[in-house]
Amino acid sequence: MSIIGESFLSSEQLTEKDIAQIFSRAELFKKEFQSRKRIDHLVRGDGLQQKVVALVFSEPSTRTRMSFQVAASRLGFRTLSLDNPQVSSLSKGETLEDTFRNVAAMMPDLMVVRYNTNPDADAVIRELPCPVINGGTGAAEHPTQALLDAFTICEFRGQVKGERVLIVGDVKHSRVANSNLMLLQRMGAEIAYCSPAELGPQSDSWKGVRSFDQLNEAVEWATVVMGLRVQKERHRSEDTGVGQSLAEYRERYRVGGDQLKNFRNDGILLHPGPVIRGVEFSAFVLNDPRCKVLDQVTNGVFVRAALMSIMLGLEVQKQ
Ligand code: ASP
Repeated sequence: MSIIGESFLSSEQLTEKDIAQIFSRAELFKKEFQSRKRIDHLVRGDGLQQKVVALVFSEPSTRTRMSFQVAASRLGFRTLSLDNPQVSSLSKGETLEDTFRNVAAMMPDLMVVRYNTNPDADAVIRELPCPVINGGTGAAEHPTQALLDAFTICEFRGQVKGERVLIVGDVKHSRVANSNLMLLQRMGAEIAYCSPAELGPQSDSWKGVRSFDQLNEAVEWATVVMGLRVQKERHRSEDTGVGQSLAEYRERYRVGGDQLKNFRNDGILLHPGPVIRGVEFSAFVLNDPRCKVLDQVTNGVFVRAALMSIMLGLEVQKQ
């Protein structure tokens, strides 16, 4: 399925051709920006300065929201952002679904949404009259994060195919882990996870995925280590075992200097952010040259710029 003119809601939608097109455009944008500090001159299409991207975020975000805004600005588009329910009609009792319908009625060219997934909102999103990008839906999916993660793996490891990607931490509540599982497996990576029993994956899509009990052994196996934040805001009473004992969590699941001794020299460490220092990664790990967390953030801008320009049917001119 092509993503031109359509909504992009799940990693599952991406064909190999889509992935190749997004990555080659993101690479071109990144190179051009590094040498000329602009990318807007590469994009061809009518009324570029008139394009409007609406961001409707009802859950917190730093990187995703701002990198969509930076990407849109670099392309010459304008953005509208609704990210604080207190200053919107949500605080007056309007439902999130009606908020989506109303913002879409302003006819933006694209809408980026983040919300806690539920069947009503999901159904409304699928019927909006403008293309929508999923900027993170509850614990379900975060497909643009998976794209930028895969792009970063390609940048530093050369390819995704054959990579051994270890996901560490709260897989159960992680939309990032779900979207990465779909995308990275499709691209030929082997996935494994290392999680406390209470926070291990629940859905069928994780059946048969390798799991490690010991973090040291897992890190030794991996070529890519992806840390995940403990998603306390999504925990229910049955998950509190780990939430209550952060000290215990750190002891067993924090990637620190000891684990790095077993990690290959050409391996990389990723994390979608926000990193809670000392919980998922130690300060030592964040300073290690194999840690590519800020490269992921930079790549997020160019991957999202590539995605938006392709969805809007814009051509690029190679210089
Ligand atoms: N920023 C990522 C997300 O929105 C990861 C996280 O919040 O832990 O899913």
